[in-house]
Amino acid sequence: MAKRDYYDILGVPKNASDEDIKKAYRKLAMKHHPDRNQGDDAKKAEERFKEAKEAYEMLSDAQKRAAYDQYGHAGVDPNMAGGRGGAGPEGFGGFAEAFGDIFGDIFSGGAAGGAGRRGGGGQQVYRGSDLSYAMEITLEEAAAGKETQIRIPSWDTCETCHGSGAKPGTQPKTCTTCNGSGTVHLRQGFFSIQQTCPHCHGTGKIIPDPCTTCQGVGKIKRQKTLEVKIPAGINEGMRIRSAGNGEPGTNGGPPGDLYIEIRMKPHEVFERDGDDLHCTVPVGLTTVALGGSIEVPTLGGKAEIELPEGTQHGKTFRLRGKGIKGIRSSYPGDLYCHITAETPVKLTEHQRKLLKELDESFRSAGERHSPNAKSWTDRVKDLFK
Ligand SMILES: [Zn+2]
Ligand SMILES: [Zn+2]
Repeated sequence: MAKRDYYDILGVPKNASDEDIKKAYRKLAMKHHPDRNQGDDAKKAEERFKEAKEAYEMLSDAQKRAAYDQYGHAGVDPNMAGGRGGAGPEGFGGFAEAFGDIFGDIFSGGAAGGAGRRGGGGQQVYRGSDLSYAMEITLEEAAAGKETQIRIPSWDTCETCHGSGAKPGTQPKTCTTCNGSGTVHLRQGFFSIQQTCPHCHGTGKIIPDPCTTCQGVGKIKRQKTLEVKIPAGINEGMRIRSAGNGEPGTNGGPPGDLYIEIRMKPHEVFERDGDDLHCTVPVGLTTVALGGSIEVPTLGGKAEIELPEGTQHGKTFRLRGKGIKGIRSSYPGDLYCHITAETPVKLTEHQRKLLKELDESFRSAGERHSPNAKSWTDRVKDLFK
């Protein structure tokens, strides 16, 4: 059978944008997803799903798309795409690609992977579980972005049993409960419910003599290092998806994904509110009264604020653009400096004398030097009667 044109499969024109291609693929993937197509349609749906996935993998890659446009199917080898046959880009090489998904996946809630597809051997195929990894970063790192490495679990095929899980010299046996299918059918009235075989847990095989190296699992858990790029502007609770770096699938199913979830360390000076930053700046009583320039911290530097004479306690000054540029923002937020006027303590005799003199001078002038006192006196007048 002749291979269908990738553009025809996705139903997009030759000049379709990447966005159109992605949209068309998502739509088809939803429609033909194995989870939604049971019974007689399942086989056909799976074919369509695979076809769409291949078309998407080719056309979403600029290099492969160019080769396909020029040479057709001869220009691209689908077996080279998709790495270990999972959903989406995977592995080390694919991380940059997966990382490109951050915008799509974090914010639009990407479709969850499906479980329970039929594998070639008739056994139930399961997608591996997703893993999550909590990463704590500082405000500075969130603002500037960060490249780092994390250690994550990875699984290698057991060398002793070559993945069979059986002790060398022995063989796994076909599960007698499910006759190797990995599923059992329970009859309930008119309905027949398909369930994962409780005896072999869906593998279709029983290992009478398990390999001692891997305890019959066939895989050995190891650690691997993953390069992670944290984009500038990331915030608490956001997740970065690393496709295919979750747990391995069962019976040849695709691996799950790894989600790196961001936790923000509290900062000593700044509090973050979206793209804006807030900080509290204590200023001496005489400075707020007389005015003057004060130095305030910014993220990764400092700035000056010119306090006018008579600055009130609680006054806020906004430094435009000194906040954080969020992942989806075009401009950085602002820095709000909240002024707190400090009451002097541990006065010397001389200072106390000066303040008393000042106090007398203020009192003799009535309420003229106290901008809020007049309205306050008016408001409480009735209560004092
Ligand atoms: Zn083994
Ligand atoms: Zn079984």
